Amino acid sequence: MNMQIEKLITNFKDRNIRVLHFNKLEEAKEKILEIIPIDSTVGVGNSKTLKQMDISKILSNRGNIVFDKTNAKNKEEIKVLKKKSLITDWYLTSSNAISEDGQIVNIDHSGNRVAAMTYGPDKVIIVVGKNKIRKTLEEAIDRVRNHSVQLNAKRAGYNPPCLTTKKCVDCRSKDRVCYYLSIIEGQFEPERMLLFIIDEELGF
Ligand code: SF4
Repeated sequence: MNMQIEKLITNFKDRNIRVLHFNKLEEAKEKILEIIPIDSTVGVGNSKTLKQMDISKILSNRGNIVFDKTNAKNKEEIKVLKKKSLITDWYLTSSNAISEDGQIVNIDHSGNRVAAMTYGPDKVIIVVGKNKIRKTLEEAIDRVRNHSVQLNAKRAGYNPPCLTTKKCVDCRSKDRVCYYLSIIEGQFEPERMLLFIIDEELGF
């Protein structure tokens, strides 16, 4: 294990967040399937990393009740699934950035993902690739504003000015996709949040 991961584990532990380190995304997937009971309800946040795992479908097929808005057929169903995922036993998501100091930084369009990470689900698992690690909180915020937002906007079919400028210009565009900037500084409940760090480049 390298020094950076050791530092991360210690710094997150001091904030009541347990880090598990994996070489491959596949190993993280196996761990998720091992620790989430089959009779649990699971909310799933929109994430390229989780899609790559196909975790929503796998959990569903084995018997878990899964609320994943990306499986919705229309806007009304999206709204219902977002709400239901706020009161699940487990919530699975990725994150836009983490700092070596132990902060988790996210930027959201409608806020359902940061809401579920913050409060509601009994347990939260956050899966991040090594490309999401930044030294400081400032660098993590810079990553989400000037990198993650643009790629999220593109994926969702929005066209805010930062898609052209390649950096945030603090817009008031109708296509703005970053209404909620969240910094998780730690957890009140020590066993609630698990952070899976994978030695691969994953998501954005
Ligand atoms: S405020 Fe506007 S320009 Fe800045 S990151 Fe958000 S969408 Fe892009």
